[in-house]
Amino acid sequence: MTIDKFIEELKKINIVLTDDQLEKFKKYADFLLEYNKTTNLTAIRDIEGVYLKHFYDSLLVFDNDIVDYSKVNSLIDIGTGAGFPGVVIKLMQPHINVTLLDSNNKKTTFLKELVKVLELENVTIVNDRAENFVKENRQKFDISIARAVSELRVISELCLPLTKVDGYFIALKGNYVDEIKLASLAINKLNSEIVSIQERQLPVEKSYRSIIYIKNNRKIDDMYPRRYEQIVKKALK
Ligand code: SAM
Repeated sequence: MTIDKFIEELKKINIVLTDDQLEKFKKYADFLLEYNKTTNLTAIRDIEGVYLKHFYDSLLVFDNDIVDYSKVNSLIDIGTGAGFPGVVIKLMQPHINVTLLDSNNKKTTFLKELVKVLELENVTIVNDRAENFVKENRQKFDISIARAVSELRVISELCLPLTKVDGYFIALKGNYVDEIKLASLAINKLNSEIVSIQERQLPVEKSYRSIIYIKNNRKIDDMYPRRYEQIVKKALK
């Protein structure tokens, strides 16, 4: 979508960007597309696609009545890739201490350059697997978030143990319907509950998006997450 359409569509969901934010989104798109010519970070290779499928899509997290981001202090984006949605959230709410975690060194190297280009402060970039990182960072973040990382029950077991009691894990998914039954059982074992599922549609191409809000209610047993192979092979019930 064009930048004008981006601005117009965001207004419809009550998001108004400042000139400074718009300039930063432009710098982000330009830097990503240039870097992507030599290092494969995203399958989206045109600027209109970046505005629609990365920026607008990530900004949908602000169209909610569950989390007030102005009150969030710490957030971790698990499997952030080229910074979605973590960097987009940081551009909108610079006060948040954002941790960007990805196991792929190519992605975290790009992110280190990106934070310099965008002059972002209080961003921590971690090249690690979530199941390893959680060992030293149990229930430490107000919000954990993941877009397009893996099946809901798998990503719940990786992300909820990073989330504070009374904090939220937010999963951004395309279709979730086939995954919800097994995920609900796992989420229950992790002393957490799905409190809301918000269905949204991207403008222009009209594909569906679901944003799933999972609240952690109590301390999670130290045995979770299990080893990755176990998480994948054996669903928690
Ligand atoms: N969230 C980004 C987005 O929406 O554009 C990237 C999505 S990409 C499909 C999935 C990312 O998750 C990859 O960059 C991959 O390296 C990372 N990833 C997958 N499993 C992970 C794990 N267990 N720990 C850390 N990163 C992981």
